[in-house]
Amino acid sequence: MTIYEGAGIVAAIGVLFTFANYILARKRFKVEKQFRSKENAARLLSRYPTLLKKITFIGMLMGDQGKIITTKIEDHISARSKDCKNCKKKCKAKKCDLMFTSNEMKEIFKDLSKPLRSYKASVDWLKSYVLIDAYIKIFGYDKALFDAARVIESLYKKKEDLKFEDLDANLQFTVREIKQRCRAMLTDTLNELEEICMNFYFKIADGDVAWYSMYQTYLPFISLVYPEISSFNDKLRAEYYTNVIDIYNLWNKKYRHERRLDKVSNVMMLYQGGAIKEVADMVKASESGKKAARVIT
Ligand SMILES: [Zn+2]
Repeated sequence: MTIYEGAGIVAAIGVLFTFANYILARKRFKVEKQFRSKENAARLLSRYPTLLKKITFIGMLMGDQGKIITTKIEDHISARSKDCKNCKKKCKAKKCDLMFTSNEMKEIFKDLSKPLRSYKASVDWLKSYVLIDAYIKIFGYDKALFDAARVIESLYKKKEDLKFEDLDANLQFTVREIKQRCRAMLTDTLNELEEICMNFYFKIADGDVAWYSMYQTYLPFISLVYPEISSFNDKLRAEYYTNVIDIYNLWNKKYRHERRLDKVSNVMMLYQGGAIKEVADMVKASESGKKAARVIT
C-alpha cells in the first residue's frame, strides 16, 4: 500500500465517520424535537382545565339551542363525508371539511331559520340570573374557586324568592354588563383555543398527545359555537379562527375514523360526559319550582 492509498483509506474512514455523526446528530435532533413537541403539548394542556370550565359554562347556557345546532352540524358532516372512502385522519378532501363561512352556515341551517335567529338572540345569553350569578362567582371573582355545580347547588338551597340583588350584596352588576362579560368570555375562550391550536397545527406541540385529552370536549364545543365563528367569517372563505377550524376538521376526521359508524353524536358526548351532566342532574334533583325549570330549558 502506498502512502497515497493509505491516505485515501483514512480520508474515506473520515468521511464515513463524519457521515455517521451526522446521522446520529440528526436522529438526536429528531428525538429532541419530538420530546420538545410533547413537552409543549403538556404545557398547553395544563391550560385546558381552566378553559374547560368556560366551555362547560357556555354549553350550559346554550342548553337546548346548543343541541339543535350540534345535531345539525353532525348531520351535515355525516352527509358530506358519507361517500368519501378516505375520510379518516389523513383525508384532504375539502368536501369533507366544515368551512365555517357565512354561506355554509346559511346552507346548514336553511330549514332552521327560526332557531338560528333565536341562537343569535341567545348569544346574549341571558337565560337565567342563577347562571349569570354562577358565572360571576366562578369567573369574575377569585374569592373562592367553586365548581359551577357547587355554586348552583348552594343557590338552589335558598331558592325561595331568589332575586339577583339578594345573591350577593357586593355583586351589583347591570344586566347589560353581565351580557357583555358573557360575550367576552366566549371571545376569550376562542382566542385562547386559537393560540393553542396554532401550536398543534404547525406541529410546535404534539397534537396527538393533546387529542386524547381534548377531543371529547373540543369537538362538540366548536360545533356548538359554529354559528358564532361562521357569522364572523366571509361568505366564501374563513378568516377568523382558522387554526381552530383546521384542528376541528383534522380531529373530527380522526374521531370519525376511530369510531366509524358511531351513533353517538358529539353533543351527546359532551352532555353525557362531563360537568354538564353533573350540573343538570343536580339541578333536576333539586328542581321543585318554576325557577329550576327555567334554568334547564
Ligand atoms: Zn373525506
